[in-house]
Amino acid sequence: MIIHLKSNVNAEKAAQLAEKAKAVCFKRDNYFVLVTSSKVRALDAELEPHADAFYVTSSDIQLAGTEYMPQKRSFVLGKHPIGGEHKNTVMIAGPCSVESEEQIEQSAQLLKKLDISVLRAGCFKPRTSPYTFQGLGEEGLKLLAKMREKYGLKVITEVRDASHVDMVIDYTDIIQIGAKAMYDHGILRRCGKADKPVLLKRGFGTTLQEFVQCAEFVMSGGNENVALCERGIRTFETKTRFTLDLCGVAYLKEYTNLPVILDPSHAMGYRYGVADLTRACLAMGVDGLLIETHPNPMVAQSDAEQQLTHEQFTEMFHSLQPIAQAIGRKVV
Ligand code: PEP
Ligand code: MN
Repeated sequence: MIIHLKSNVNAEKAAQLAEKAKAVCFKRDNYFVLVTSSKVRALDAELEPHADAFYVTSSDIQLAGTEYMPQKRSFVLGKHPIGGEHKNTVMIAGPCSVESEEQIEQSAQLLKKLDISVLRAGCFKPRTSPYTFQGLGEEGLKLLAKMREKYGLKVITEVRDASHVDMVIDYTDIIQIGAKAMYDHGILRRCGKADKPVLLKRGFGTTLQEFVQCAEFVMSGGNENVALCERGIRTFETKTRFTLDLCGVAYLKEYTNLPVILDPSHAMGYRYGVADLTRACLAMGVDGLLIETHPNPMVAQSDAEQQLTHEQFTEMFHSLQPIAQAIGRKVV
């Protein structure tokens, strides 16, 4: 159950009521919100005089669910508002990892040329093997910050574990929680206290229910600006890296109030399919696209096989606007 407390209830009283109700409590605008288990179906007598409104939901998809809030949530991702009544699809592009100043600067220049505002690149990489490139760490974050200043871009980079979550939050404009990190409650809870939007990726063995409940951890901490990112799940198929779950995207659009972002690059795993998939993703009417592109993918230190060349990316990017127009959206 979600309970909106009256605006005259102060922090101390809200905390007391939350403890009694075994609820999570956070402040939204000028009032406190309590969230109990969805199994609670009637408002406690003690809470009643302090409650403005309460909402019963059928599962622990609560704050993120359309049962509670049927209209899409809206917030600024990078430079543009997404969700709500906005018909923007934000393009997020860049290499898998920051590798050097020259490489990330070439990437920033590509975005500038195409008027794309959000540069992506990882600095703390959650690699499958401990013996491969693990990311430049803080040095990479500094390079991203430099590109933001020099080219007027916004940046998104991922948190690999809770040990550097504060550092990443300090440097970045959008916090990315990756497919492998999405179960890390240290990260989820810390991001719940951050004042920056979060792009939460779906783990590749994660059900939609589990995925959205991870978003609930961030939201119930007080940071409700969460975008859900589908990036492919593991199936029996081995010819492609993962299987992009577009049915799941339809579910997320129908039953959650959060913006949805699609990442065809990690789903496909191979350059050859990414442009077609990007167009298919856009046609789903989503709020954002996350695409990997590298100045020289052949020598990329991570995800070399799936990153588009700048030429391939540019060609693909120019094919998107007519599709967006056909479904009443705009790629920004
Ligand atoms: C990435 O975006 O480079 C990445 C590691 O993605 P994922 O968490 O989806 O594997
Ligand atoms: Mn990658």
